[in-house]
Amino acid sequence: MDKQVVMQKQEIEQLRQSAQCVLDFYDELAELADSKRDLIPMTLFRAVAALTLNPAENGVEVRDIRFTPKELLAKVTEIGLLKKLPKESEASEWVLRHWANLGKEIEKRKSHLQEFSSRRNMEFYPWIGKEESTGGQANHSYYYLITKSLDEQALIDNRQYPCPEGGLHYVPESLSNIPIWARWISGFVLKGWQKYAFLLPVLVVTLLALFIFYVLLFQGIHGKISAVTWISQSLVALGLAVWVYSAPLYRVVIHRIVMAPIWMAPLKESNVQLELKRIGTDPETGNAIRELRLMIYSAQCPICKARVEVESGGFEFPFRLVGRCLESPREHVFSFDHVTKIGKPLRK
Ligand SMILES: [Zn+2]
Repeated sequence: MDKQVVMQKQEIEQLRQSAQCVLDFYDELAELADSKRDLIPMTLFRAVAALTLNPAENGVEVRDIRFTPKELLAKVTEIGLLKKLPKESEASEWVLRHWANLGKEIEKRKSHLQEFSSRRNMEFYPWIGKEESTGGQANHSYYYLITKSLDEQALIDNRQYPCPEGGLHYVPESLSNIPIWARWISGFVLKGWQKYAFLLPVLVVTLLALFIFYVLLFQGIHGKISAVTWISQSLVALGLAVWVYSAPLYRVVIHRIVMAPIWMAPLKESNVQLELKRIGTDPETGNAIRELRLMIYSAQCPICKARVEVESGGFEFPFRLVGRCLESPREHVFSFDHVTKIGKPLRK
């Protein structure tokens, strides 16, 4: 067969699999009781995937599988989950705006999407594309689904491990509404000088402690005991506060994943993890490049199908993170490993 035809067939097949992947991804979100699955961005994602599935057959060229705002809006209407939909005449502007939101949404869900695709033995994952009209009017823009290859690190990260009997499979979920003061943490890359910037708070606190210690000593020598008591109490309080607030940042260096403290987590989320994820290797030094991420790992309980969230092991499983079912948190308990993303039952 002609080489070009073979390539073309392969491209179409990958696109078809990607489109199916989006639809099945939605089903998984439903199983995980994801609260944002039925909002506009994900619905638009499903619409473009559903539209792609039809013409993605042999003989059609990939570049011809693209859709107008009107076609997308019609599909969204057919899916029928959204209460407020624009008029047909406003389709272009509506799709344009929400397509951008969809871009942000899948960026947040990228780990999950990559992991989901790997689980289906795909070496690529679905993404979205857009073609501006030459006239510059959104009216003539085209929207479509594309396939993106998983890079080397993503292939390593998403290696699949067999799930033990009675066990479960965790998925990394998207996290939005991170408080403003904690936004720098998610995505902070530890590489080169930034590794040292990370240590700055400790340095500042140490210097401050030394200074206060010096003041204490000075006051003590001059016999002002009430001042000594007052300052030493403040010192202990300050030390404790700094420890409580910044300890997770340092513990994550040792353990790679810890529970995120309350001040880093969005208001509505209680079980958030702070992960120090390997994202590549520095070609010059050969050291790992790591990135801090705020994550939520969740799973579906194999016993009662409710949602399982990862939390601290507490007294029963000290120094560990475990998965607990929201419906039966004391009995449906599973181990948690963020590398294999597999959990074994901890109750016999
Ligand atoms: Zn359960």
